[in-house]
Amino acid sequence: MNMAKVALLYDEAFLKHETGSHPENRSRVEYTHDYLKAQPMFDSLIEISPRAASRDEVTLIHTEGYYDSLLAIPRDRRVALDPDTPFGPGSLDAALHAAGAVAIATEGVVRGEFDRVFCLVRPPGHHARAGLAMGFCIFNNVAIGAAKAVRQLGAQRVAIIDIDVHHGNGTQEAFYEDPDILYCSLHQWPFYPGTGSQSETGSGKAVGKTVNVPLPMGTTEDDYLASIDEVIVPAVIGHEPDLIFISAGFDAHAQDPIGGMQLGTDSFASITHRIVEAAMQTARGRIVSVLEGGYDLTALAASVAAHIKALME
Ligand SMILES: [Zn+2]
Repeated sequence: MNMAKVALLYDEAFLKHETGSHPENRSRVEYTHDYLKAQPMFDSLIEISPRAASRDEVTLIHTEGYYDSLLAIPRDRRVALDPDTPFGPGSLDAALHAAGAVAIATEGVVRGEFDRVFCLVRPPGHHARAGLAMGFCIFNNVAIGAAKAVRQLGAQRVAIIDIDVHHGNGTQEAFYEDPDILYCSLHQWPFYPGTGSQSETGSGKAVGKTVNVPLPMGTTEDDYLASIDEVIVPAVIGHEPDLIFISAGFDAHAQDPIGGMQLGTDSFASITHRIVEAAMQTARGRIVSVLEGGYDLTALAASVAAHIKALME
């Protein structure tokens, strides 16, 4: 079997979002990138540098008013966009490069430059709403990529699989009435942000295009894999996407200080293998994976490495 061509997007711009001792801090991607560099597989990765997302890309998902309000914050000011989401002098540049990374990753996959890609970005994105920052997230990186694929790059349909321990309320909301974009999430329940019950399934022509799998605290790998096999993979195959996005949060790891689940590092390889198999069946193997949460540095770095190795197979 040929190894898939896998790209990695990372940029020092992500370090400019200075959050101090906040759990979502620059060490997450800095430590993980250093860890990846020490892995033998690193030499096989295609390294790509992001650019900043354009206004047109950001406003595929976010309101003009929200975008302008961030631009209007004086560059020397530190503010809180919401109680969990600090914003300082380098934050806009970091957030624009995180969204731009997913935009470039999506272009690269659609154009066939590589089969799969991991975007080692921050700030994360899946809680960000059209007009609001929320839960450590400023721009909804995955949602911008998915919307770009369908509205600018000619994809017919895409699927998003969100494995972060939290429900991706912002992503669900962005595509709740969009029949072309399937959103599937496995998440701890009940838990922040409170959305993501099984009864939220989409509306209008998109009924059935939101698939929520709420899982109780303490859920183990076996139950995650069963849910993926029985619910997520059939939904993805039935949707016939041209490419699959992964909102790759690693905060369902047993060591994570925020999540309450029991996944191990290898669990992320097992989960990723299943998503790769689904992608091979329906999406010519094409995957854009994007970092969301994951707050224990050693668990995060090892889990990202296991995830990327599985993407390469
Ligand atoms: Zn999370």
